[in-house]
Amino acid sequence: MMKNPIYEPRARALEYCDLAVNIYTGCPHRCEYCYVPSVFRRKPEVFHSNVEPRPGIVESVKRQLAASDWRGRKIMLCFMCDPYPIGFDTSATRGVIMAIKESGNHVQILTKGDETAQRDFDLLDENDWFGVTWSGAGPEDEPGAAHPKQRYLNIGVAKHKFGINTWMSCEPVIDPTAIIEAIPHFNSVDVWKIGKLNHRKSGIDWAAFGRQAEELCQKHGRNYYIKEDLRKAMEG
Ligand code: SF4
Repeated sequence: MMKNPIYEPRARALEYCDLAVNIYTGCPHRCEYCYVPSVFRRKPEVFHSNVEPRPGIVESVKRQLAASDWRGRKIMLCFMCDPYPIGFDTSATRGVIMAIKESGNHVQILTKGDETAQRDFDLLDENDWFGVTWSGAGPEDEPGAAHPKQRYLNIGVAKHKFGINTWMSCEPVIDPTAIIEAIPHFNSVDVWKIGKLNHRKSGIDWAAFGRQAEELCQKHGRNYYIKEDLRKAMEG
């Protein structure tokens, strides 16, 4: 059984959550910008095709939570995989969520999953967060992920049918226009987290994008957080 799968993320990931757990060994969504294979020093095709629950993940999470004094903490699912890999059995995600909730802690989900990402909404409450990625990426950038419209549908169901907090992760930003167009209209999003594209060069004027996104958030009364990298570009 693995030891302590819940961990404290480092560096930029800390801006999202101060505890996290990765449930699967890989992810089938095949995002072109995915940095995880390089972190694990694995070939992308291996990471994207080898998708199964990490051995003993649910029991390991239960054991770690029982030994901890965490209460009321928020735990991110997931940084290094997607908690709802499309086409795969996601019972392990349900088991991890149940363990976290039973221990008196909460979850912050981030997924590019399809409608099956709604399967565990019945376990969540007003202390939990459900989020999706909205990056302006096209199907060629995220060929295995759910269509962005489906992701926003999932957000709407989480908020309006289940009373779960919702958030939008705008990172990496592939097409700023998609975010600028979404901010005024997406009323089902409780918090916007807006960043930039860090893993490759682009011709995007980050300062202009950040200022426009912030102005729109303020104009439309959106709760938002500008990630440090983007904030630096805006101030630079
Ligand atoms: S959803 Fe996340 S983990 Fe999966 S391929 Fe895309 S970036 Fe990588």
